[in-house]
Amino acid sequence: MKTLICQSCGWPFTKATGGTSRDKSINTDYCRDCYQDGAFTDKSLNLHELEVKLLEMAEMHEDISLEEAQELIKKLPELKRWRMDHI
Ligand SMILES: [Zn+2]
Repeated sequence: MKTLICQSCGWPFTKATGGTSRDKSINTDYCRDCYQDGAFTDKSLNLHELEVKLLEMAEMHEDISLEEAQELIKKLPELKRWRMDHI
């Protein structure tokens, strides 16, 4: 299965864990943690909060190193959700 990169959290996902559009079709831009039924699950999330969240995830999960999380954070501003400044 093709690995996709979530355009919100930067995490890899597959179609099986993809978000859903309003018509319940799979959205291949975002993972289901970030996007469900055509809307972001956490609409007020900002880039800084996401960075904190990813670092917390790296601390909690053994399979994610702090270095990996930091690499991911560097790439976040290139993602679709964060490319334009909505704030
Ligand atoms: Zn995501």
